[in-house]
Amino acid sequence: MERELACEIVKDLLPLYVDGIVSDVSQKSIENHLKHCMDCEEMYHNMVFHLETETPPTEVSDVKRFLKKTKKMCLLYGLGGLSFVAILVCLIVDLAVNKGITWSLIVGSSCLFADAFIYALSTCKKNKGCIAMTVISIGVFVLLFVIQITRYYLMETGTVWLFRYGLPILLLWLLVLWLPVLTRTFLKWNIWDCMALFMLLAVIGNYVTKLITGDYVWNDVLHMRGFIGNAIGGVIGIILFGILGRIEKWRK
Ligand SMILES: [Zn+2]
Repeated sequence: MERELACEIVKDLLPLYVDGIVSDVSQKSIENHLKHCMDCEEMYHNMVFHLETETPPTEVSDVKRFLKKTKKMCLLYGLGGLSFVAILVCLIVDLAVNKGITWSLIVGSSCLFADAFIYALSTCKKNKGCIAMTVISIGVFVLLFVIQITRYYLMETGTVWLFRYGLPILLLWLLVLWLPVLTRTFLKWNIWDCMALFMLLAVIGNYVTKLITGDYVWNDVLHMRGFIGNAIGGVIGIILFGILGRIEKWRK
């Protein structure tokens, strides 16, 4: 004879029963109990009713939350990308027009460079980073041309610096940014090795930029004039990231 279950036990088991995760024996006992006990029956119906009315709103709100989040992310990345483009363009124009860059630009741009770069590296497996980099690269080209045309041809001030300084410097630094991203995407290097490669390219890029603007001649580079100021930070970075890269590989 089947023993009548106490209401307390049935009420405790009801959530599991509603979810359909009780054993066959328990299920039968609960069903029998519900046939005779109005109290538990009512509770059961309330539970099922809540489940039915609650599920759709949570799904809808999940979708809404998701949309809101993606919209916010797009806006955030868009703004980040735009400010990155703006700083990069200021940097190149400053270099081309004044043949040197101001300190605030150096600090601001290096922060943005690092942010954008780490973002691109961390997402480029999913190709999102590559898309972001492509948009940024094209944006910088367009903006540089617009500034040159507006200043020289429309405002009739300044000189034509676009081909002598602007484009070579831009192409150089785009290469510095793109190479690590491409090695990560296609050669599957770990993030630290890519950072080390970036640092190495940045050191080279720094010297080449100075050659383009005329701050340096080849002799200065060969005799490593101003090595401490130009490259020591980069060299330390290369060693540090290189070690981290080895540790990451060794751990796997
Ligand atoms: Zn009962």
